[in-house]
Amino acid sequence: AALPAGTPAPPPAPHLFSDPSEIGALRRNLLAWYDGCKRDLPWRTLAAAETDADRRAYAVWVSEIMLQQTQVATVIDYYNRWMQKWPTLQALAQASLEEVNELWAGLGYYSRGKRLQEAAKKVVSELAGQMPRTAEDLQKLLPGVGRYTAGAIASISYGQATGVVDGNVIRVLCRLRCIGADSSSPAVIDRLWDMANALVDRSRPGDFNQALMELGATVCVPKAPLCGECPVKQHCRARRRKLFGKPTPVPDVEDCGVGGCPLCPPATEPWDSSLGVTNFPRKAAKKQPRVARTGTCVLERRGCHGAPEYLIVQRPSSGLLAGLWEFPSLPLDQGLQEEKQREALADHLRAWTGWPVVAGGLRFVGEVVHIFSHIHQTYVVYSLPLDGDVTLDPALSPSRWVTEEEFHASAVSTAMKKV
Ligand code: SF4
Repeated sequence: AALPAGTPAPPPAPHLFSDPSEIGALRRNLLAWYDGCKRDLPWRTLAAAETDADRRAYAVWVSEIMLQQTQVATVIDYYNRWMQKWPTLQALAQASLEEVNELWAGLGYYSRGKRLQEAAKKVVSELAGQMPRTAEDLQKLLPGVGRYTAGAIASISYGQATGVVDGNVIRVLCRLRCIGADSSSPAVIDRLWDMANALVDRSRPGDFNQALMELGATVCVPKAPLCGECPVKQHCRARRRKLFGKPTPVPDVEDCGVGGCPLCPPATEPWDSSLGVTNFPRKAAKKQPRVARTGTCVLERRGCHGAPEYLIVQRPSSGLLAGLWEFPSLPLDQGLQEEKQREALADHLRAWTGWPVVAGGLRFVGEVVHIFSHIHQTYVVYSLPLDGDVTLDPALSPSRWVTEEEFHASAVSTAMKKV
């Protein structure tokens, strides 16, 4: 029958899961593997033991926000400290942003901590302390909670049969169904959500979603997937194609066969047999990160007990590294000569401290490179010992003198710790 006007055509069958018995087998195989191999992680233990739905949802939510863009191994320690300090939404809602930033320091993407705390405040003040109970409401009502996080919280904490799509799931699904079109394009992402929602196990959705992500993180890894150990290998079309694929022009059994298929690799980049299953997923070329240089100066004085102290200033409350502390810094124009850099930084420090800082007094220490997600940042580091006190105009930006120990306990970024 003809589809109503405006309805997108369904994807060609080779890219779908349409056989109910295959879906059932895939769920069973994946869950059995997960039950035997899953990693012991503190948020899993908490979610399994917690009987209160709000506390359970909060515990999952914190882990999901921390795990966005950060490795599991790094998150564990931060997660434990966070949950110890703020075991409930109510406790987090009462924390100060400074405390949140201090605990988050080193975890990167700092706005995540801030948004988590803002959302906790909202749940307490506007939703009577009760977490929304469905993925749809979580996404709609909580700032910073997108479709993925909402699906993860709802499936793991409430048992809602809703799928999730993150980087690991994208990779696994694209391989299972030979999806080679740009996996960051909205058309492909929409199809993957449909697939995740169709596949998710109805009685154990939270475990199923975690199993799919765990498979991507530990077996179906980006570069050298362990297909021989994979619990769903018999459902994997990329693997079948690797084992039985024939070089063109003999038609491949797994070829989609639909000209201009929206999910196949583009005709200009056909299957590369040397890549095997890692032909999938494919992404359009990444944008090059922006290159930036920043002059930064470590001002040092003798503190009252003789130990050195360093001056740190607070960044503006919005934008990159919002509200974090750093050594006085100044963005530098590209291609500026060393001498000019030094002068620009001295001018900046002079205007800001009121001290007669001269360029020659700044000692060049070295350069520190730090890659933010989209910025290739080089800090050109100088130091300046002071033999008197400097009083700063508090209207310019908040500042304080700290010992080395206090510096490390402050809300400073990893880049500044490197400096
Ligand atoms: Fe990934 Fe290999 Fe398993 Fe396919 S068989 S899902 S490519 S690990």
